[in-house]
Amino acid sequence: MAHYSEHKALRNAYVEKGDCGNRGAGLFALRDFKVGKKVCIYSGSIHATTGDHPHHNYALALNDQESVIPDDIASLGGHLANHSCNPNSSYEIDDIRKYGFLEARKPIKAGQEVTTYYQYAHAERVICLCGEPHCTGQIGIQLQPDDATGHEKLRAQLRWLVQVMRANGQRWVVGSVLAQLAAGLPVDEREAKRIVLTRAFGDSYESDEDFRWLNRMPR
Ligand SMILES: [Zn+2]
Repeated sequence: MAHYSEHKALRNAYVEKGDCGNRGAGLFALRDFKVGKKVCIYSGSIHATTGDHPHHNYALALNDQESVIPDDIASLGGHLANHSCNPNSSYEIDDIRKYGFLEARKPIKAGQEVTTYYQYAHAERVICLCGEPHCTGQIGIQLQPDDATGHEKLRAQLRWLVQVMRANGQRWVVGSVLAQLAAGLPVDEREAKRIVLTRAFGDSYESDEDFRWLNRMPR
């Protein structure tokens, strides 16, 4: 097989669009990827993060203010990757050059579907159709009211997420979901993460077995 070229990955030369039945369109690899390799770019234009772009459901946040949003959702790019509870790639950001891309988290073979974990934290529950043996049953986290009942429901979801990702060996997914939840809190990042972790694992979260697992596992 020809030598891997990051340039070609960023021109979406190594992926194609395919049919995934009840999950709609999907993204497929045209070559093998080793862990850590760029698979394709998240193509589109940079917009202010406002939520009123017609394709805002496909927005990938570049920073606090800006997101990259596909101009044409039928075009080839990272936005075509379906969600999975056991994904083989993750969305990453190049802060300097301001673009998003998919990076292989597991070895990906030519012909295989490229999947990723949608970092959803939405009010509505979105059913997951990934079909993995260890599936959380929903995409991302369903946001709850910020009261005792809400904290209990958030805790239950995060505990279940931790169990599933433990079974899948995908610790980074839990980390990225915590970061996403923390991002919505109007305090600095460190304090925000502490609040989310306390809600999820209790005051003594640092001694919680699940939290220790999160710290022990490689990213
Ligand atoms: Zn799933």
